[in-house]
Formats: sequence, structure tokens, C-alpha cells
Amino acid sequence: MAGGGAPSNTCDHRVSNGLFRRRRNVSSGQNEDERRKNVAPRFGRRGFLKTSTVATAAGGVGLVAASPATAQDRDQAPPRDSGTRGRRYVVRGGAVMSMDPKVGDFEVADVLVEGKKIVAVGRDLRASGADVIDARGRIVMPGFVDTHHHLFETAERAFLANGLLLDDRSGSPSANPNYGKHILDGFRLVYRPQDVYINDLFAGLSQLDAGVTTVLDVSQIHHSPEHTDAAIQALIDTGRRAAFGYFEGDGRATARYPEDARRIRDRWFSSDDQLVSMVMGGELHLGRNVYTRSWAIARELDIKIAAHSVGSWGMLPVFEDLAQGTAGVRVGPDNLFFHMTGMSDRVWKRFRDSGAQVSLAFPIEMVMRHGTPPILKMQELGMEPSLSSDVETTMAADPFTLMRSAMIMQRMVVNQIVLDQGDPVPPNNWPTPAEGTPELLTVRDVLRYGTVNGAKHLGLAGKTGTLTPGQEADIVVLDATALNVAPLNSVPGAVVTLMDRTNVETVIVAGKVRKWRGRLLDADLGRLRRELEASRDYLFKAAGIRQDLFAYS
Ligand SMILES: [Zn+2]
Repeated sequence: MAGGGAPSNTCDHRVSNGLFRRRRNVSSGQNEDERRKNVAPRFGRRGFLKTSTVATAAGGVGLVAASPATAQDRDQAPPRDSGTRGRRYVVRGGAVMSMDPKVGDFEVADVLVEGKKIVAVGRDLRASGADVIDARGRIVMPGFVDTHHHLFETAERAFLANGLLLDDRSGSPSANPNYGKHILDGFRLVYRPQDVYINDLFAGLSQLDAGVTTVLDVSQIHHSPEHTDAAIQALIDTGRRAAFGYFEGDGRATARYPEDARRIRDRWFSSDDQLVSMVMGGELHLGRNVYTRSWAIARELDIKIAAHSVGSWGMLPVFEDLAQGTAGVRVGPDNLFFHMTGMSDRVWKRFRDSGAQVSLAFPIEMVMRHGTPPILKMQELGMEPSLSSDVETTMAADPFTLMRSAMIMQRMVVNQIVLDQGDPVPPNNWPTPAEGTPELLTVRDVLRYGTVNGAKHLGLAGKTGTLTPGQEADIVVLDATALNVAPLNSVPGAVVTLMDRTNVETVIVAGKVRKWRGRLLDADLGRLRRELEASRDYLFKAAGIRQDLFAYS
């Protein structure tokens, strides 16, 4: 399954299965002109075909200009050898939202990238000899960070469109199928290593396409070391930044959680200078015998510890123990907790005081009955969340859905609090918020949650989350000229309130262009989709669940 040799960025699967299109190899002996010739025709031809097709179809009704305008003015090929040592290019002329208060925002500016890193952000940067990414009419900002996503569940996308966490015995379509029975105790148990690989890879490419350049993969599929290695290989092959979350498997004899963490660290994560890093899954609900070991190993290896915290799933008692210091482990700034729904004030205060972090999955918490996302509690305590997509069994994993859900949920609650402070009759039907009323979330807030906070919560604040000189270049270029966005009146406002994944035009990870002008590079998506569908067919059969495109809604 996953390779038996030393870890590297070369994918065994890619080599053996040919899942990826191979890029044409440009020999180092060629001069610049020859290189350009090798690259340009591919893109030039595509551009030509696209333009002429549209012109033929719509030309008769006069909707298309006689000579195609912007498409040909803009450069057609991505920067050469992006992300490699010494290669420079400049993202030129975009509206730059750095998310770093010290760098600031620019209506028009450039971002200069050399190798993996951002070298400069500012107006009219001189960059002689550098390639240019024309970002006029575009928004340039840091890639998004998702701090909790179960990538392995991609084969079951939308299977639980109505599904709750657990069967509430209502007999409703939301009670069955449900997450506990059908995903965790159903599909999850029958995954083979190759299923883990294709599910993780496809989910990763999908999020990369949507502008999520960093993820914490909450990977709960470690039935054997081969499952583990397949998951990590998929994260590496995706070519984006990821924290591999080493959570439990199903406890079968071949499962080696949590002790296998040492082997995993030595094999895959011996260097800090790589895109994929490691986080320890330290679930408290697995019982003291397990979590005391996982937390101790994590601290021995100096990696972060992540855990679910869902009051509605019976987890409150052990979290009370943790808050009171009687759980046998100590909460600290290396802890990241997911959801924190239904937790007591005592737990919250202890976590705040200890510097622990919290990731909220607004859409999933609201839809699957985890409980109300505890954003008001966090505001009260002066804490800020990062954002989780959690599961695509039930909701989309793009950053726009996450940011908008956070805004909508919080403002629904706070707006009603304010309205309830007045009465329905003028002039008091529109009251001024009373002292102590929570502040409404703003688009800036949720942008920060989805970028800066995510990087911090994964221990990656020095590498990603902002456009800051010295940071690695994780950049998204968003099309603000698109039909659903133009005219551009507010950069943060357009990203949060108007955009969706179709506006994510170009995606860069550690300086390397991974999506270019709307198309993922180096991925044969048709072939990967067929692999995923085959995996899906196997998983349904093995889990004894009928495939039916209308039955589960
Ligand atoms: Zn989760």
C-alpha cells in the first residue's frame, strides 16, 4: 500500500498506479526560451480553444467581443518551477489583504515570492527577472486553514444529509442513518489502506481547489500501520500543508494506537521543514487507560494534542475531571478541542486559563445536534476559535460555508438578544444594545478565524496564516471580477458574503502553484474520481449498506 522505503515526497501510489498526470520533464540543459516553448503551448492552446468555442456559440447574438480581451492580455502559463529554491515570481496588482496588522491591506499591491517564501508585500515591487502572476481584479490573501476535517469519509459524502450524531429514537429521517452507527461503527470499520488513501487524497484536492491550503486531518482510521501510512502518504501527495492527526483506529489486534506514534514520528516527521506535520489524537472519551498514554506520548514527542469535546455525546463528566485536575492529565496550551458544546463554565474557565484552543464546526454543530456553537461563551472569555469543516457526510468543507455559517449563527442570536431588549412598538423597536451585549461578529472576525487562528491552533503561526515577509507563501487569488462578485466595494466583505469556491482562481502552497486559473495542476481528477467511486462501491458493500441515490434524504 504505502511505500516501504524512506518517506519522501515521491508517491508510491502515483508511481505504481499512475494516478497523477506526469508533468512534462523539462531538462535543466534548456535555456529560458526553450523552457517557455515547452510550457506555453499547452496553456496557449487551451486558451485558444476556450475562446473560439465561446465565440462560436455566442457570436451570433453579439454577446462576445470580436477580439478576446483580458484572457490574452494576461499571462497564460504559471510561473516556472514555482516553489523551488531561488525561483522568484511576483503576484502583481491585486487587492492584497495580508491578515497581518503589521503588513496591512492594500487596494493595489504586489506579493513577491522566492522559493517557498514571501519576500515582500507592497506597492510597485521591483522584481527584475521574476515571472508575473497578473492579479488585477483579484483579491490576494492567505490560504484558508481548516482545523478539523475527517478526510477519510469522502466516499460517504452527503450520505448523512439529514443525519444526526446519534439515533434519537424519533423514527425520523434524521435519526437513521446517523453518524455513530453508520459512519463510526459502520463504514469506518471496513476501510482498507487503499480506501484511506484515495478518500484522503480526493478530499484534500477538493479543499485545495477551494482555497484551503492547510488542514488538520482528524484521522480515526488507524486499524493497522498500513492504514496510517496510507493516510500520511495521501496528505503528502495532495501537496498542501497538513497536520496529520493521529487518532485511534478500531482497536483490532493490528492497531497500535497510541504507541505507534513513535514509529510514525521517526518515519514521516523527522524534519520540521516539510508540509505535513503531526498532531496527536488524545480523545478523553476513550478512557483513562488510553488517554493518559496518548497525552504522555504526545508530550514526549513535543506535538500538539487534539480531542473532541461534545457534551451531547456524554463527554461532560471526563471534561469536568480534567478541569478539576482529577483526570490524570493536565490541560495546557498544547491542547486543541473540537466543538466544546455543552461544556460547563468551570471547564471553559480552566481551558481559557490554561491557554487551550478551540475549533468550532459551526454548520455541523448546528445541523447534527452537537449543540449551539459556543461562540458567545468564547467571546465572553476573550477567546477566539478557528474553524472546522468536520464531516462532508453532512455539509460542504469549503471555507466560505464555514465563515458564513459562523456569521449567520452568531448574528442571529445576538440580533435577537438586542431586539428583545426593546419592545415591538416605536420608538423602542430598534434598541441600542445594552451594556454587556455580545459584539456582533464581523467579516474581519471570521476571516481571522479561518486563517490566522487556524495557523496558530496548529502550531503553524510562523509558517502560514498571513501574507507576511518571511512566512511561507500559502496564497489564494480570488476573482473579484466574477459575475457573483463584481463590482468590488469591500475586499473582506466580498470574500465572506459573496464568494464561493468558483472564485478561487489560483492557489499557492509554500510557493508552489497548485491551482492555476481555475484548474488544479498535476492531478488527473477523472481517474481519481473513478478510484474514489470504486472505493465507495466497496465500502457500501462491505458495510452492508445499500446504495440508493434517493433513500437517505
Ligand atoms: Zn470530528
